Amino acid sequence: LFRCIILGVYFINMDFSITILGASSALPTANRFPSAQVVKHNESIFLIDCGEGTQMQLRRNKISLLKINHIFISHLHGDHYYGIFGLLTSMNLLGRKKELHLYAPPELRRILNYIWKQTGIQLLYEVVFHVHNYSGFNLIADCKHMQVFSFPLSHSKQNCGFKFCEKQSVANIRKDCIERFELGIVDVRRIKAGAGIYLIDGTYIDNKELTHHAPEPRTYTYCSDTVFVESLNTVIGNTDLLYHEATFAGEANDLAIATGHSTSIQAAHVAKQLSAKALILGHFSTRYTDVGFLQQEAETIFKPVFLAEDNAEFAINRITRATVQVK
Ligand SMILES: [Zn+2]
Repeated sequence: LFRCIILGVYFINMDFSITILGASSALPTANRFPSAQVVKHNESIFLIDCGEGTQMQLRRNKISLLKINHIFISHLHGDHYYGIFGLLTSMNLLGRKKELHLYAPPELRRILNYIWKQTGIQLLYEVVFHVHNYSGFNLIADCKHMQVFSFPLSHSKQNCGFKFCEKQSVANIRKDCIERFELGIVDVRRIKAGAGIYLIDGTYIDNKELTHHAPEPRTYTYCSDTVFVESLNTVIGNTDLLYHEATFAGEANDLAIATGHSTSIQAAHVAKQLSAKALILGHFSTRYTDVGFLQQEAETIFKPVFLAEDNAEFAINRITRATVQVK
């Protein structure tokens, strides 16, 4: 029984996770690819940013190229999108027919059309283009189990962050109640939608007594690249897990402002502001070969802090909404 429980928790943990494909800023290094990451939720796979080498990293992490139906490009600095040309071409070569949703700055459509024209490529599938709106908190993708919102960041190029909000799952009806109250299909449907029931003697049984409480929906927020944004919580609300760029160490504050980036300390302050349960630091400057001290700096402000090492995977627990590193 103990073994079953452990396995059960493991599977529950796995259904909302983030895999880091790359988190180097500007240049790739021997150990780090530029920005790209995958959000897995149940059967859905969302790709955020698509730096050079994303295809190889997808293969290394055994993520099927054809299962990606939504790609989110934060902004048009090359380290966040130079991998898109190869990825979309490979999807074509692999025989993709299904439409692909691309959420990106408007210029990317022109860039892609130019590339297809110059290379003579005719895509056999439709790319549905969703252009970023750089003001406010906007619902950009409304999927079966997940909603994705965009919000503006403050960088040297127009840039959007993304918030992934799991939809509230339907409450599970208690099996013993089905027998005890002889519930039919219509009753079950109504109870799942939140209703209570009246017994023949007029007693009212509240929905809470008929169902197992559905866990609170989980959220994941992606912030790259940006200077420190004051009061981001007033725009996007709280989040369970936050990925935030930490291009520089705490002492490089002036350099961070001059280049439109953040320090590890500022990333920790944003995590605190958003009441996050965990923070992942990424988008590391190539000047740092060992980024462990960025984690230590951030942990003086906020805990726990993880590092976005290539191929690391983080899962958000369904019950506690805490983050664990899976690999
Ligand atoms: Zn940038």
